[in-house]
Amino acid sequence: MSLYYIWTIGCQMNKADSEQISASLEEAGFQATTTAQDANIIVLNSCVVRGSAEQKVSDKLDSLKFLKQGHLKPSIILTGCMVSSNIEQLEERFPHVDLFLKPQDMKSWHRWLQSKNINLPQCGTPLIPARPPLTTYVPIIKGCNNFCSYCIVPYRRGKEISHPIDEIREQVESLVKRGTKEVTLLGQNVDSYGHDLPSKPDLADLLSNLNDISGLERIRFLTSHPKDMSLKLIETTARLDKVCECISLAVQSGDNDILKAMRRGYTVEQYRLLVEQIRSAIPKVAISTDVIVGFPGETAAQFQNTVSLLSELRFDIVHVAAYSVRPGTRAAKFNDNVPQEEKARRLHLIEAMQESIASEINAQLLGEIEEILVEGKRKDRWYGRSRTDKLVFFNSDTCYTGQMVSIKITSAGSWSLRGNECDTCCTSAI
Ligand code: SF4
Repeated sequence: MSLYYIWTIGCQMNKADSEQISASLEEAGFQATTTAQDANIIVLNSCVVRGSAEQKVSDKLDSLKFLKQGHLKPSIILTGCMVSSNIEQLEERFPHVDLFLKPQDMKSWHRWLQSKNINLPQCGTPLIPARPPLTTYVPIIKGCNNFCSYCIVPYRRGKEISHPIDEIREQVESLVKRGTKEVTLLGQNVDSYGHDLPSKPDLADLLSNLNDISGLERIRFLTSHPKDMSLKLIETTARLDKVCECISLAVQSGDNDILKAMRRGYTVEQYRLLVEQIRSAIPKVAISTDVIVGFPGETAAQFQNTVSLLSELRFDIVHVAAYSVRPGTRAAKFNDNVPQEEKARRLHLIEAMQESIASEINAQLLGEIEEILVEGKRKDRWYGRSRTDKLVFFNSDTCYTGQMVSIKITSAGSWSLRGNECDTCCTSAI
């Protein structure tokens, strides 16, 4: 039996791309293994959004060198954002890699498989795994046209290209037939979906189309860009029963001068208004955000503006990162003058503040009944996610994987909730 090993870091788009690569290998008769040493094919799906991620990929690649001298002599493939037009440099740096595959270049991937006499019975893309996850990522638009000054993604993933609505619907219907209950529609900037298609549909049109798929329980989408989120999308999210009350809306900074230097295309005032519009249209919505601290030139006062905005808007989740230079971006020419220790201090301050805000928000759910899609069991407890993407644990002797269960929340922390089954619990099963 031929085995493959796949290692993925980075965003949900990378996870979705890895699912496609895994699906193709399983279609060709390979089985997954969790140890690189046992594998005939090793795939590393890389991320370069921060320097630390890129370093991890380099270290991982170096650690695989010795396997080429072993009896299996595996093929090693590097894909993800580390691979762009820089293939010659990568070949010099990592001569033990057999294929450098640009992100989502499935045609080259299939060509390489054929060159190794590995044939795929199913040749369409996207491939539908035989047993897809209960909750599956579905990329709907790739690339990004925005060129935020700190971000390498547009240089690596190229211009925005949307998949047509009928193709996405067909993919989601096939996933649902094979067991998927929830899909998350993905894009680096998911709100700009459709502008490049002939009839110019938008994300709201796509959500309306998918909402009537029988057997599909939930739809999510991420990541939203504040400058592209329309009132139509907010109203559609509020109206459609399967679209979850959960929005990921990266703010990045609470200071207008820093937002301008980041080329984000909105002001703090516009962002605040957008959050108000979302909260008034979608009751109980959970909003998560992303923040970068220590951007070049960020003063103590400008950082304080970010702290004030976060404490005013009280997000459910804040993903905070310290700025790191990405060579080739506009911000790489700026003076990266916030010392590393100060970046770490700012990061920890926001993390601590957010932990207490999240605890307070989650405590408001005590006694509430949440509908959970049960994903499995961890340490003898069932777990799943609510419509607002809260992680919920509960005990039960019944097997609930894949079912929607009503859970009464009995305890709440900053990262997860616990609860008990209600009498009127199960609403559906696979
Ligand atoms: S919207 Fe900005 S941060 Fe997001 S992928 Fe595009 S350029 Fe990068």
